[in-house]
Amino acid sequence: MNDAEFADVVAAVRRFVRTEVVPREDEIEESDAIPPEIRQAAADMGLFGYCLPAEYGGLDASVTEDVQLAFEFGYTTPAFRSMFGTNNGIAGQVLVSSGTAEQKAHWLPKLARGAVSSFALTEAEAGSDPSGLTTRAVRDGDGYVISGVKRFITNAPLADLFVVFARTGEEPRGTKGISVFLVDASLDGVQVGPKDRKTGQAGAWTAEVVFDRVRVASTALVGGAEGAGFADAMKSLVRGRVHIAAVCVGMAERLLAESVAHAQSSKQGGRPIGEFQLVQAMLADIQTGAYAGRAMVMDAARAYDSGADRRIRPSAAKLFCSEMVGRAADLAVQIHGGLGYMRGVPVERMYRDARLFRTYEGTSEIQKLIIGRALIRDGAQST
Ligand SMILES: Cc1cc2nc3c(=O)[nH]c(=O)nc-3n(C[C@H](O)[C@H](O)[C@H](O)COP(=O)(O)OP(=O)(O)OC[C@H]3O[C@@H](n4cnc5c(N)ncnc54)[C@H](O)[C@@H]3O)c2cc1C
Repeated sequence: MNDAEFADVVAAVRRFVRTEVVPREDEIEESDAIPPEIRQAAADMGLFGYCLPAEYGGLDASVTEDVQLAFEFGYTTPAFRSMFGTNNGIAGQVLVSSGTAEQKAHWLPKLARGAVSSFALTEAEAGSDPSGLTTRAVRDGDGYVISGVKRFITNAPLADLFVVFARTGEEPRGTKGISVFLVDASLDGVQVGPKDRKTGQAGAWTAEVVFDRVRVASTALVGGAEGAGFADAMKSLVRGRVHIAAVCVGMAERLLAESVAHAQSSKQGGRPIGEFQLVQAMLADIQTGAYAGRAMVMDAARAYDSGADRRIRPSAAKLFCSEMVGRAADLAVQIHGGLGYMRGVPVERMYRDARLFRTYEGTSEIQKLIIGRALIRDGAQST
């Protein structure tokens, strides 16, 4: 895609989000589902595979391009992005970066057309520290038998493909001996639990997934090599952090738009509340955070694409932007007064939706550890 073509894609996504998805946010919230026609339109626009290689039907978006789309996705319910987020991000990128030619040829065109992939790493005692995972893949004839329980797996109830991290080595824990498998969701022994009841992000589904002696062929081992799973997971998560940071910026910009509109129209003492300087100060804080976040994300994305930094900037952007949008949502609720606490008001919903960004794809604490460790190991560097 050249720059002009990409600008057209961003403009089309922006138009679609604002005219087709935003007006249906309440319906998505109430039904806890994305309407099928929105899902179909997203597939028709190529959104299920926009970060996948063009040769497999994707749009080949770089991280710098991905974040510009993510700013737009962030403007509406996160459930819209979540529907295809795992394909372009954490699950799909494992396949893109480490899959064999046969694995890519088999799965990527399906994903680009609208099939759904899930990233199955987290377990009860392996969240922030996935090296504690206990799911096992035991060699059996010309294949493996996978057993274990994953939880909080995004898109699991819809998944056609699970990208599953399992222990193939002898070590009971640690980063060594973890491998990653492509598990067709229709295989015997794959059991997806009921969808989780979450605080927010209605319409985006997670569930527990049990792999009960699931037999896969040896061709399901990503890259054909055992032991590469931990590095594959980390690589994919790093890229995902820049994307999540951009989604947070988009949400902060929406919170700002809602808050400005409210401050301009809602009156106290016969005057719009936006005339009160303390209200203006809250708006200024949201604006400043969103602006800082946007600039940071663009810088982090360029440094990711050039290879200049795939460690500190992605974590710093995810840390800053997820905390920033939490604060922005809190301020937006405050600006809306009592109305901000009422269901059906967008900022109330976003207040709940925003909370997740500080937790998944690496908590804020884990981002601090990554940044801190890199600084101690490599010394301070100007970013
Ligand atoms: C809605 C949702 C969707 C998700 N989607 C997916 C998915 O698609 N695939 C997937 O594999 N996982 C997914 N997850 C899991 C998510 O990535 C984990 O919940 C997250 O990484 C935190 O792990 P945990 O829940 O086990 O919490 P814990 O790791 O137990 O963390 C609890 C607290 O302890 C802190 N903590 C942990 N270790 C340290 C440490 N070393 N130093 C300091 N503090 C620490 C954490 O920061 C946190 O505050 C999802 C989770 C949610 C809620």
